[in-house]
Amino acid sequence: MILYNTLGQKKQEFVPFEEGKVRMYTCGPTVYHYAHIGNLRTYIMEDVLEKHLRYSGFDVKRVMNITDVGHLSSDADTGEDKMLKGAKREHKTVLEIADFYTKAFFSDCRKLNIKTPDVVEPATQCIPEFIEMVQKLLDTGYAYISEGNVYFDTSKLDNYYVFGNQNEDDLEIGVRDSVTEDTAKRNKTDFVLWFTKSKFDDQELKWDSPWGNGYPGWHIECSAISLKHLGEHLDIHCGGVDNAFPHHTNEIAQSEAYLGHKWCSHWFHVLHLLDSTGKMSKSKGEFLTVSLLESKGYNPLAYRMFCLQSHYRKPLTFTYESLDNTTLAYNKLIAKIAAMNNDGEVDEVTAQVYIAKFKEALDNDLNTSLALTCVYDVLKANTNDTTKLYLLKDFDRVLSLNLIEEANKLRAEKEEKACAVDAEKVEALIAERTEARKNKDWATADRIRDELNAMHIVVTDTPEGIKWHVADR
Ligand code: AMP
Ligand code: ZN
Repeated sequence: MILYNTLGQKKQEFVPFEEGKVRMYTCGPTVYHYAHIGNLRTYIMEDVLEKHLRYSGFDVKRVMNITDVGHLSSDADTGEDKMLKGAKREHKTVLEIADFYTKAFFSDCRKLNIKTPDVVEPATQCIPEFIEMVQKLLDTGYAYISEGNVYFDTSKLDNYYVFGNQNEDDLEIGVRDSVTEDTAKRNKTDFVLWFTKSKFDDQELKWDSPWGNGYPGWHIECSAISLKHLGEHLDIHCGGVDNAFPHHTNEIAQSEAYLGHKWCSHWFHVLHLLDSTGKMSKSKGEFLTVSLLESKGYNPLAYRMFCLQSHYRKPLTFTYESLDNTTLAYNKLIAKIAAMNNDGEVDEVTAQVYIAKFKEALDNDLNTSLALTCVYDVLKANTNDTTKLYLLKDFDRVLSLNLIEEANKLRAEKEEKACAVDAEKVEALIAERTEARKNKDWATADRIRDELNAMHIVVTDTPEGIKWHVADR
C-alpha cells in the first residue's frame, strides 16, 4: 500500500516493522464535550485505513487513548484544563464528565460504523507508566525541573521539527487559542511532562509523584500508552492534522529520547472538516454533532459516505446542502441494491477483476472516492446480481456503509407495506362474502372464495367470528 507519510512529507510504501503485523496508534478524544463531526471525520478515515489494512490481510492491533486529564485549552501547555472546564460547565466532577462523554463518543462511533480499537486506555489509568517515563527522561538528561514542573528539553535534540521546517504553516495550525508564554521553560519549544504547580487552584485530579503531587502533561500519555500496548516499534500513528504539531512532534521527541532509537515509521494525518466560518471546534460553543444530524432526520451513514467522497488529505467543507446531496445518492444506491435478486452463482473471475480495482483505489493513498466509484461500477457491471451483491458485501468490509443491511431493511419495509395493503383487501373481501352469503348470493360468495384462494388466504369460522391467515407455501 502506498500511503502519504507526514514524516518525510511524501507518499511511501507502507512497510510494517514485522511482516504481516500492523501496530497502529490513534490519538483519542478529549472527553470534556461531545465529539463534533469534524473530530469524527478523522475517526472515520482512520477506521477506513484500519479496515483496509485488515482487508489487505494484515493482522492489525490498534490502540487508542482517552484524554481525561492534562489537555490544556492551548496545545502548547497553557490555558485552562479542558476537562476542568467541562466539569465546571456542567457542575459535575471531572470523572463524571469523562465517563459521560466517553460513552457518548463510542455511541457516535457505533452510529457511524467506526470500529472500537482493540485497546482503549484512559490516561488516568496509566499514571505509573507516565511517571516511569518522565523519570527516565530526567535520569538521561532529556528533562529538567523548573518552578515545580518537569519539562522536556528540546534543545537536546538535533532535529525537533521532524515534520519539516514549514511545519506550522503546512499543517494548518494557525488557529490556536491565545498563548501566554510559560516563563519557566528554558526553550520556547520545551513542553511539560508533569505539572506539580497547577495553574488552577482547584485542579481536581492529582497524583503523588517523585516531583510532588501533580498531573501528567498531555503529550506523555500517548507515548506511554503506545509503548505499553504496542512496544518499541510503532508502524503507524494517526490523528487530525492539528495533532502533528506540537502534539505528535513532542510525542516523537520524548519517545525516541526514552527509547534511544526511531519509534514510529508512518504518520497519518487527516485534514480538517471546516464549516462555513472556518475550522470546526468544540470551544466555539455551538457545534455540529451526530445527534444534531439525527434530530434533523439524517442517517449518520450518509455523513460517513460524505466523508468517503473526498480525500483525507484535503480539507472538507460541511454544508447541509452537500449532506442532502449525499443522502439522496445514498438512498438511491440502497434502493438499487434492494431491487436485486440473489438467485444465481458468484462469477468468481468477474468478481476478482472488481476486487482488484477496489483494492488498487485504496492502496493508492486511501483513495476513498475512487473506492466509491468502484461500488457504482459494480452496479453497472455485466454480471448477475449474485456476483454484484457478493462484491458489495465484500467492499463494505472497508466502507462500512451497511449497503446490504440497509437494502434488506428497505426490502422488508416494502414487503411489510405490501402485506398491509393485502390485509385491508382481505378484510374487505371477507366482509363482502359474508354479506353475499347473508343475501344467499352464492355466485358472488363463490367468486370471492376463489379470489381469496388465489391469494392463499385461509378463512375459518370460529366461535369468536371469522378468522383468516396466509397459507404456508
Ligand atoms: P480532541 O477531542 O480535541 O482531542 O480531538 C480528537 C481528534 O479530532 C484529533 O485527532 C484531532 O486532531 C481531530 N480534529 C479536531 N478538529 C478537527 C476537525 N475540524 N476536523 C477533523 N479532525 C479534527
Ligand atoms: Zn495523542
